Amino acid sequence: GSAAEGADCRPRPPISFELFPPRTDAAALALGRTIDRLAEADPAFISVTFGAGGTSRDRSLTVLRYLLAHTNVEPMAHLTCVGSSHSEANRLVREFLDAGVTSFLALRGDPPVGADPDAGIGDLASAAELVQLIHRVQEEREPFAQVGMPGMPGASRIRERARPERVAVAAFPTGHPRSRGIAHDVDILLAKEISGATLAITQLFWRADDYLTFVDRARAGGVTIPIVPGIMPVTTPARLARLTELTGVEPPAELAIDLEIEPDAAAQAELGITFAARLAAAVLEGGAPGLHLYTYNRHEVVLEVLNRLDLRNPDQLVNERNTTQR
Ligand code: FAD
Repeated sequence: GSAAEGADCRPRPPISFELFPPRTDAAALALGRTIDRLAEADPAFISVTFGAGGTSRDRSLTVLRYLLAHTNVEPMAHLTCVGSSHSEANRLVREFLDAGVTSFLALRGDPPVGADPDAGIGDLASAAELVQLIHRVQEEREPFAQVGMPGMPGASRIRERARPERVAVAAFPTGHPRSRGIAHDVDILLAKEISGATLAITQLFWRADDYLTFVDRARAGGVTIPIVPGIMPVTTPARLARLTELTGVEPPAELAIDLEIEPDAAAQAELGITFAARLAAAVLEGGAPGLHLYTYNRHEVVLEVLNRLDLRNPDQLVNERNTTQR
């Protein structure tokens, strides 16, 4: 959107989107169109989820390759390490680098249902170890990137290509389900930063204060990397219930009730869009460095959320809010 931004406008905060790999050919076709529309919004990157245990590896790679071949958008690969040996994780990272993907969201992933969550599964115990491994594989793969040859244009090009663009990690504003408290979540995030993470993306949350308080606590605890809020517009009561079950993050009762009693699908979507746009506006006003939108592989809802924010002209957004507050 840079062409449309006037010199008197502040730059739009970076936005990014999350997709999951489609399961059917029909869904894959539809996803191509969705990606094309999302790309028009000029995101900083589009991330593609990864089934823990590697079940979606090929389908994730297909989506990432589509992004590389058909858009100018930086693809980001989610990778999980739970259940992997060192050599398997090594091979996985190499495979994605070979495909041309240089940005990652390094995750531990969840152990299979029924497994003892405290027992070690595989060689890598945490996302922080996967962050280190990604850096190590990258360095081994392109040793020249470490040496560097100042003054040689060819060498500096290699260096730019070789370095991972971003190594993102997950953060949990309302606490990871197994967290002992917010200080524990901050410590784990700090460990990921020390391991080489350059960016954190949050789990969904429903109150701006949850995010803003977590960022304050993380800063006080020594975390310096950007912490990008993950925003999920939820447009049906069934999806809200499923999300609550999956993430353990309790939604506000009023959103759950409003969605439940609204019979009309379009009006339900409107409720979800309005809620997400308000939440996004509040975290941006509180200083969020960007927005990461969970798309459910649909472009309409997330693009409408961005549209409501009028990010091309943030001053107007702030003014409107001040007026309504008075
Ligand atoms: P870690 O950072 O390793 O930590 C997870 C938790 O384990 C900690 O909060 C803590 O409670 C405990 N823990 C870790 N280390 C220690 C320690 N040293 N001492 C004590 N406790 C410890 N899952 C997928 O399978 N595929 C995806 O594509 C995917 N994408 C995601 C995207 C985002 C933005 C988010 C927020 C989550 C995503 N997940 C995904 C889910 C994620 O894999 C799970 O939440 C998983 O349980 C934790 O992963 P993590 O990377 O945060 O793990």
